[in-house]
Amino acid sequence: MKLEGKIALVSGASRGIGKSIALALGKEGAKVVLTYKSNLDLAKDAAKDIPDSLVVQLDISDRNSIKLAIDQIIEKYGHIDILVNNAGINKPTDFEDVSDEDWDMILDTNLKGPFMLSQEVFTIMKKQNYGRIVNISSVSGQYGGPRTVHYAVSKAGLISLGQCLARYGAPYNVTSNNVAPGIIATDMSKEVMNSAVGNDVLQKTILQRPGTTDEVASVVVFLSSDESSYVTGQTFNVNGGLI
Ligand code: NAP
Repeated sequence: MKLEGKIALVSGASRGIGKSIALALGKEGAKVVLTYKSNLDLAKDAAKDIPDSLVVQLDISDRNSIKLAIDQIIEKYGHIDILVNNAGINKPTDFEDVSDEDWDMILDTNLKGPFMLSQEVFTIMKKQNYGRIVNISSVSGQYGGPRTVHYAVSKAGLISLGQCLARYGAPYNVTSNNVAPGIIATDMSKEVMNSAVGNDVLQKTILQRPGTTDEVASVVVFLSSDESSYVTGQTFNVNGGLI
């Protein structure tokens, strides 16, 4: 029970990687806040095995929604010790076909969202002189993922945000790290995995298979715990040896 007494906020925990992260943090004793954008039933289902958890609606691209969610969390628990910026979206599109609207939608969700949520939570972590921030980036942000220029740019930006927060958090005992998964089997990766691009990526993966959501979650647990107290500003590649 590495995380007993800790309050963990996981954005986008209704399914996929976020759900596994929420369950793994819960198993280590954390009280977990699971956020969803539209799938309330899935979020409730994910929360049912985590004692004293809280399910909260949150649109990460909307500052008011973030503030409302945080008010609910503080009212119930009084503090937030762990923030996992996991919520994200993708829309594979060739570069010349990316519309301004698509660009804004992806950047607002994957980069501006974690910026706004981190800003709101950072104020709380600073006051309590403790915090663990983990950003779920992507291998796409490290090598310019094919057919995902907006997504790749957002995930590269997220790595930079995580590094900046490490600097700002250091005087307040707040660490900030990034996790960059390769292809992980979820709703988001279904389309890519069944494409020529996906096949190519899998062939370049040393382990020759997609990762599981649990394989990402175990690294997040480490970065959320005091076992990683001397780790900050780093990016952990959970990609089966892809790069
Ligand atoms: P997923 O299965 O599609 O789940 C996405 C989650 O984000 C859902 O809980 C969804 O809520 C939530 N969400 C979507 N838009 C949101 C918004 N505007 N505000 C708040 N929450 C929102 O995705 P995943 O594959 O688990 O991916 C999780 C993270 O890992 C993402 O940041 C993704 O970029 C990253 N990642 C994934 C892979 C991969 O291969 N799967 C690889 C590298 C990185 P609802 O259910 O309510 O819609």
